[in-house]
This record gives sequence, structure tokens and C-alpha cells, in this order.
Amino acid sequence: MFLGIDGVGKRSAAVRLAMACNCIRHAARQRQSDGSSSDNPEEFSDYPCGQCSPCLRIAAGIHPDITLIQPEAGVIKIGEIRNLCRILSMKPFEGLKRVAILSDAHLMNPPASNALLKMLEEPPEQTLLILTARQSADLLPTIVSRCLHIRFNPVSRPALSDALIQHHGFGAEEASVVTALAGGSFSRALSMKKATWMSWRGWLITELSRLGSSPLHTILALSEKLSKNRDALSDIFEIMLSWFRDILIFTCDPTHVINQDHLEQIKEASLRYSRRDLVQIANAVKSAQAQIEARTNIRLSMDHLLLRLWQQRNMGKTGIS
Ligand SMILES: [Zn+2]
Repeated sequence: MFLGIDGVGKRSAAVRLAMACNCIRHAARQRQSDGSSSDNPEEFSDYPCGQCSPCLRIAAGIHPDITLIQPEAGVIKIGEIRNLCRILSMKPFEGLKRVAILSDAHLMNPPASNALLKMLEEPPEQTLLILTARQSADLLPTIVSRCLHIRFNPVSRPALSDALIQHHGFGAEEASVVTALAGGSFSRALSMKKATWMSWRGWLITELSRLGSSPLHTILALSEKLSKNRDALSDIFEIMLSWFRDILIFTCDPTHVINQDHLEQIKEASLRYSRRDLVQIANAVKSAQAQIEARTNIRLSMDHLLLRLWQQRNMGKTGIS
């Protein structure tokens, strides 16, 4: 069971491991160096060559002994697991290690989880089952207890920033902002590469900087607009948190501000909030984020949050206390 936040390479590592289990070049090299002629797949190397036929077909997703199960419309259903069990009940096509990758296994519904449980209790020979999930708490304890757990940490900021600049065409300033907001998730950082993302973030920051001086109907219109943008909700909350964090940090050390391209707005805002306000605001944003993740009414939670920020600003003070 590979555990970690989205976008840290769990599925890529699973595919790589499947290649390592089936790479014929490395297996041949290893047999030569061992002086052994054994065909026992347990002796196969953990480093795939990436060039032999099995490696290439696994990378292309067309190897008959590698099965990838992933959610459709946010759920893995029992039909998928039954189909997997049927495939694994047969002998491997090529006689090496068979690998089944269940991506986002926490999205199995209860019947699917129970169907998989039987397979985990009596796994077929020469078969590796890899489940990926955000955290073990999202799966049935009976499944969790039958797996070996491997934790994937978030990608460090320097590593993420270097990769974005060197391989994905990010500029240094853009990489700095995106890295700070991506929370160690590579896929999340890449999603911010879209040309519109940086301008959309600039728009949101401007809206946040105007919160207190806007009339009530503008706040409610903003809430409606943000609530409709479901796919961007996690970004919206991260940008909100980074904005208020920056206002707090600015008075101590402007060089640690995340949104370096909005320093003037941050400086102005720092004159309008007290530290206590900012801590309360950060807690309110986190609380709304948790409510929305728990699938409560998005519009209601967003209205509540923005009205609170609006009130806080209007009760605000002049100068840092
Ligand atoms: Zn290979």
C-alpha cells in the first residue's frame, strides 16, 4: 500500500516496480553476474532497464500481466474488482510477476472493498497487488492490516522548484509561487502551469485585498462565483491561506512572503489587520476548508467564511497590535 498525498509519484512508482519485476534485460544481467540460471522471479532486479519489450509495454500500458484499476466517476465498483479477481485466477501470460495496481484504492465502495479482501487473504502466486491511497484511514481496517505500508512524502520545495524550472518551462518567480502553493504535490504544481492560472490567482488576490471595502452584495456574488468553481476549491483555499499568511509574515520579514509579485498589496493590507485578526482568519479559512472537504453545503460554508472575513475587516483597526 503506497500512501501519500496526490501527485507525489505513487502510481508512477507502482508502474516502475511492475517494470522492475518483469524487466528481462536486467534479469539476464543478474543471472550472468550470479552465475545462476534460475528463473525464479524473486531474483529479478529492482531496477528496470526501460528499454526491453516488457519494460516498454508496461510503460505504454499494454502488458497483459499488468492490470491498472482506477476510479471511474470517483468510485471503484465491485465489477472492477470481480474482473480483477477473474484475471488473477488465470496463469500469467508471460510467466513473470503479475502486478495489479489499484490506483486511489480509497475510492473503492464497501462491496468492492469486501471483494478485494478475499484476494488479499489468499493472494495468487507470483502476483503483486499495489494499492495507492492518500491515507490508510480512508480504507477498511481489514484491508489496511493485510498490506505492507510504504509512505511517500510530499516533494521538497527545492526539488519541486528545480524540476519545474528545468523540465516544465516555469520561470523562477512563477516556480517559487507555485512551489509554495502546491504543498509538495508535483501534479498540483503542474496544474498551475496553465496560462490562465496565474492571472486567475492575481484576480482572487485582488478580490481578497478588497474584501473589507466591498459592499455586501459584492461579497455574496464573490461567494457564488467561488462556490461554483468546485475543481478549484483546494487552490482557492491555499491562495486564501497564503494571502493572509503573507500579510502576517510581511511585518516580520518580507523576504519570506510567498506571493512576492503582490508585495505592494500585501504591504497595504498589513496596515489593516491585527495579528490576532489574521490568526482568527486563518482558522476560519481552515475550518471552511474542512467543512467543504467533508462535503457540507459549499455555498453556505463559503458565504459564512467570506462574511466573516468581511466583518473582521470592517471591525478592523489601523496598525498592527
Ligand atoms: Zn527492461
